[in-house]
Amino acid sequence: MKRAKRRSLWDEAQQVLAGGVNSPVRAFQAVGEQPVFISKGRGAYLYDATGRRYLDYIQSWGAAILGHAHPAVIAAIRRQLRQGLAFGLPATLETALAQEITAALPSIEQIRFTNSGTEAAMSAVRLARGVTGRSKIVKFEGGYHGHGDPFLVKAGSGLATLGLADSAGVPEAVVQDTLVLPYNNVPVVREVLERHGAAIACVIVEPVAANMGVVIPEPGFLHMLREVTARKKVLLIFDEVITGFRLAYGGAQTLVKIAPDVTVLGKIIGGGLPCGAFGGRRAVMRHLAPEGAVYQAGTLSGHPLAMAAGLATLRWLSAHRPYRALAERTQRLVDGLRRVAADSKLSLEVQAAGSLWTAFFADGPVTDWAAARRANTERYAQWFRQLRKQGILLAPSQFEACFVGAAHTEAMIDDTIRAARAAFRAMQ
Ligand code: PMP
Repeated sequence: MKRAKRRSLWDEAQQVLAGGVNSPVRAFQAVGEQPVFISKGRGAYLYDATGRRYLDYIQSWGAAILGHAHPAVIAAIRRQLRQGLAFGLPATLETALAQEITAALPSIEQIRFTNSGTEAAMSAVRLARGVTGRSKIVKFEGGYHGHGDPFLVKAGSGLATLGLADSAGVPEAVVQDTLVLPYNNVPVVREVLERHGAAIACVIVEPVAANMGVVIPEPGFLHMLREVTARKKVLLIFDEVITGFRLAYGGAQTLVKIAPDVTVLGKIIGGGLPCGAFGGRRAVMRHLAPEGAVYQAGTLSGHPLAMAAGLATLRWLSAHRPYRALAERTQRLVDGLRRVAADSKLSLEVQAAGSLWTAFFADGPVTDWAAARRANTERYAQWFRQLRKQGILLAPSQFEACFVGAAHTEAMIDDTIRAARAAFRAMQ
């Protein structure tokens, strides 16, 4: 009955939505299933259209760090809703959220809000090109910075999931200026930056890679990037759309003590509503219109509801500082998964940073995209299906991060480990 309902919802969606979805990974293609249609989220749980409850490790792809429908966030949205929707003119909430973010991230003196991480990353690159007068950019294999044209080369996330090296519809001329380098490879990256630095506008990097699964930067990788880019007057852009306000109050840059020139944010800063942002030193940001010559705009940018939800989220995070507890709970999960995988003689590499984690079906540590690609995606798909049957939703792709949030309890983690034990046994 339930399966029949899911089937018919999926059939209906496929009639009128391209590919049945509004973002490719939602189609569950990589795990060989039909998607679940969600009707409600509360805390760590999602409820599907048949009323079935799932323990959710997707957490709106990281945006819902407080859990779904957190009372403080809902109350802030309700309050703001009474004032109307969008005004198309400045509102003080934009300044308030900007103040909160600039106080938390010392590398950001000024910020500009957008409606998505994609827009923010695109705009950050345009800004870097405008500031430097150079056109080449560097990104890393398996890195994802949204679906802007210049980024769709060897990109992680949905492209990795679908096994696409790049996207149709992106003109050769646009990606000619994108240099794609191996993540974590200090000698190769240093050599390219030393040799071609004078032509490069920016290096954009996820300080902890989370779109080829979670891949931790090797010691020295990010510091090398900062040192060489500074010397070559290349702007260093940290894409902290996932890591911002997730790994620390601030971002990965707070932990590694590196000040990038520009930071890209999204997800958590909008509290679950559409929002992105990019920011940096005033000397860089003043190049943006209307002050400077780099154009960037948005009818709904800095939307009051998103600002209210983001502010409520950041204030809760700032007051409660859940980061140590989140990391401890995630470590409990990581240890448990390693234990039950070993009991079942399965090669599982569980990699985590704070509350971000990925279980790679791989024979050794995953340090870059080449290693991530060697993971056994069929095994991952089996594991996903086994856990879904037991009411647990993982990221529907080997190449996406899973998220633990403030609403995940120790008991939920232990349930997950038990479910994983049963899943691994079934897969033997
Ligand atoms: N950068 C990173 C690191 C991301 O993970 C994402 C999306 N997951 C984006 C940019 C794009 O953000 P959005 O989906 O909001 O456009």
